[in-house]
Amino acid sequence: MTKGQQRSTAGEYDAIIVGARIAGAATALGLARRGARVLLLDAATFPSDTLSTHLLWSDALAALDRLGLLDATLATGAPPIERIRLAFGRHGNEAAIPTQGDLPPLMSVRRIVLDELLLDRVRRTPGITFHEGVTIDAVTRTAGVVDGVRGVARRGGVAFMAHAGIVVGADGRHSAVARAVGAAEYDVVPPILATYYRYYRDVAPLDPATLEAYRDAEGGFCYLFPCDAGLWTLALSFPQADFDRVRRDHETELAAQIARKGGLGARLVSAEAVSSWRGAGDLTNFFREAAGPGWALVGDAGYHRDPITGRGIADALRTAELLVAALAHPLGERAAALAEYGRGRDALVRPLYDFTVERPPAGVTPDDWGTNLGRIVRDPAHLSAYIGFMANAAPSEAFYSAAAVYAMARR
Ligand SMILES: Cc1cc2nc3c(=O)[nH]c(=O)nc-3n(C[C@H](O)[C@H](O)[C@H](O)COP(=O)(O)OP(=O)(O)OC[C@H]3O[C@@H](n4cnc5c(N)ncnc54)[C@H](O)[C@@H]3O)c2cc1C
Repeated sequence: MTKGQQRSTAGEYDAIIVGARIAGAATALGLARRGARVLLLDAATFPSDTLSTHLLWSDALAALDRLGLLDATLATGAPPIERIRLAFGRHGNEAAIPTQGDLPPLMSVRRIVLDELLLDRVRRTPGITFHEGVTIDAVTRTAGVVDGVRGVARRGGVAFMAHAGIVVGADGRHSAVARAVGAAEYDVVPPILATYYRYYRDVAPLDPATLEAYRDAEGGFCYLFPCDAGLWTLALSFPQADFDRVRRDHETELAAQIARKGGLGARLVSAEAVSSWRGAGDLTNFFREAAGPGWALVGDAGYHRDPITGRGIADALRTAELLVAALAHPLGERAAALAEYGRGRDALVRPLYDFTVERPPAGVTPDDWGTNLGRIVRDPAHLSAYIGFMANAAPSEAFYSAAAVYAMARR
């Protein structure tokens, strides 16, 4: 194509997916496996990194397994993380991280590696056409039904247009597809925390590999965990109200945050930072309408919550599975199936969303909930229930319910 030409693909594809990372690649692979012809587009070129740490709980690993990608994930050399160690002032606590089946309880694979595993499979999957460097900024409609996308290819600035039976926005929390289709937002909660992270090497390893979590008295929280390539991720979260101050001199401010977390400084004493800090302070929590005539949203495009629980990747993979199942219905049943997809998505993520936006479970007073959370740093069984909830390795009611809270209080 030369500059000024427009590419049009009417009738060529069953689905167009905008965004080719976790949610988009997983949806493309799922649809292609069912025989669909898929056009997968991304504004980025790959391999490339994105703003994200990358805790992969066992349900994310199970979803990668269903895509045939577990062996490749294990082969990255990222160690299985089996325990959590939580430190808060003078208190400390440890527990095993529950898992699903015989999967590692937790792993961490950098996004530049993980996303490429998915895209390598995409490139080798018949039925998927993948274009990188294509930014979509509009949808097309016929008789009010979305039936395509418009945008521009970075190479040569060529206008791009394509058509399909369904347009899927998998283009992240600032989704252009959501904007173009006018997807309504609901249950929006302003940012609670801001997060910065960077990579280290030569952190003294713990045996077994451990997710280290440190809290401080000023509402700061931090994770330190090993990932692939012998690296360690340090992620610092702190109240969003402090973000503007921190970003003005983030090196000094983040060093002070590390110093405030008893024990963390000692863990980093022989370590070398091998990247600069990356951070975000605009981590709004929201749901968006999941689907409408000719369109659907998946992953962060449709639902976003603060990454403190490290569940975005798992949720993107699992909601991609729900969407693929909905799109398998015959065309005449599609609208009902997509409506059910939206309800299924919301039911799936609701307990963790409510937890993330600091709502007590139904029937629990804020005071009792605060007391309950306080026990996590003292009681290994409670820490285990908490981490089982985060890992989605146990029914959510085992931690996030009035029955669980008051049973814990009686122990
Ligand atoms: C600081 C931070 C730490 C995190 N830590 C974790 C963690 O430990 N564990 C975890 O599970 N999750 C974590 N998350 C969340 C996780 O990164 C997201 O939930 C996950 O990336 C969602 O995947 P996605 O495929 O929906 O979207 P994304 O990964 O955001 O991918 C969207 C893609 O769409 C493309 N795109 C965007 N706009 C357009 C357009 N107009 N046209 C074409 N392409 C477009 C982008 O280029 C991008 O490649 C973290 C997030 C942040 C910000």
